[in-house]
Amino acid sequence: AKQAGKNGVRLYHPAMGEAAAERVDLERDLRQALDGQQFTLHYQGQFDGATGALQGFEALVRWQHATQGVLLPSKFIGMAEETQLILPLGVWVLQEACRQAAAWHAVAPRLTISVNVSAVQFEHPGFSAAVREALDRSGLPAGCLILELTESAVLRDPTAAAAQLTHLKRLGVRVALDDFGTGQSSLSLLHSLPIDELKIDRSFVQSANRVLLEVMLHLAQGLNLRVVAEGVETADQQALLRMLGCDSLQGYLLARPASAEDVRSLLIP
Ligand code: C2E
Ligand code: CA
Ligand code: CA
Ligand code: CA
Repeated sequence: AKQAGKNGVRLYHPAMGEAAAERVDLERDLRQALDGQQFTLHYQGQFDGATGALQGFEALVRWQHATQGVLLPSKFIGMAEETQLILPLGVWVLQEACRQAAAWHAVAPRLTISVNVSAVQFEHPGFSAAVREALDRSGLPAGCLILELTESAVLRDPTAAAAQLTHLKRLGVRVALDDFGTGQSSLSLLHSLPIDELKIDRSFVQSANRVLLEVMLHLAQGLNLRVVAEGVETADQQALLRMLGCDSLQGYLLARPASAEDVRSLLIP
């Protein structure tokens, strides 16, 4: 590496070049992956807080990279958003998740499927049409599809978000606010938007801060929202959430994300 000059400006650093080259590779690979069907969905169960019964699954995308093995979303969703490749990827995720859930309905009729929606997707004018198409093609009842949005997706433009949510609600789908508690959402926003569910971020669940969790659950119950706790890893966390009346639990303690085949053998033992 070149030494920083007297003025402190570094002209070149090899690590910088490498990082940039890696990004270019990743973008190229991402485009090929979409054509080459290298994406798969894993499914993590959500269980009734009181009875423990299976209620549904959250779909989580994985990339079976040609040379790097399985890549988790943290490795590529950001890049997919920057390049707008999240739009075709998001359509694929929606269609695949709906298709899979509709197939499971033959043995487990009321299971819900929760799909993560990026802000870039949500803000795209074609989004509600894409949702409708995924429902039509799969035959999945709209009420079984839950779209998970983050607070930031909704907050970037609350007026546009409200309009988009109205379109989606007309289709009959449900909407969840993901990672709740980590963002900036105000009480009035929660009250004014047509949201059905709050997903309490795992940082709160894992802090096991009883007062905080109690406040969040009371708030949700007051607003008539279903509450899902994510990242439940211990029996103590589960017991606390159950005592506080949490509707639904999700986390490694109950089930890890699993392939479609593994879910199938779980549903049909
Ligand atoms: P998220 O929506 O908050 O999803 C939950 C993440 O927590 C998943 O990570 C899941 O595997 C992990 N998790 C579940 N239970 C536990 C637990 O008990 N402990 C811990 N430590 N982690 C747990 P994953 O699959 O790596 O996904 C990360 C994020 O990537 C998701 O966070 C979501 O924001 C995003 N993502 C995943 N799939 C999609 C997708 O299809 N589209 C979009 N736009 N984003 C996606
Ligand atoms: Ca989620
Ligand atoms: Ca989450
Ligand atoms: Ca998260």
